[in-house]
Amino acid sequence: MKAECPVCGAEIEFAEDTVQGELLECSECGTELEVVSTDPPKVEEAPQEEEDWGQ
Ligand SMILES: [Zn+2]
Repeated sequence: MKAECPVCGAEIEFAEDTVQGELLECSECGTELEVVSTDPPKVEEAPQEEEDWGQ
């Protein structure tokens, strides 16, 4: 599955076990991306706020 980086347009390849809500990093521009959908594959720029999600 492949999505398109909303920032630079590069193709983002999803791993087979990629799930909605997962964070990925664009290999082209380094932007942190959040998987908003896996079918169809779609990513959006992750929120930039410094949020601590805990462990
Ligand atoms: Zn990018």
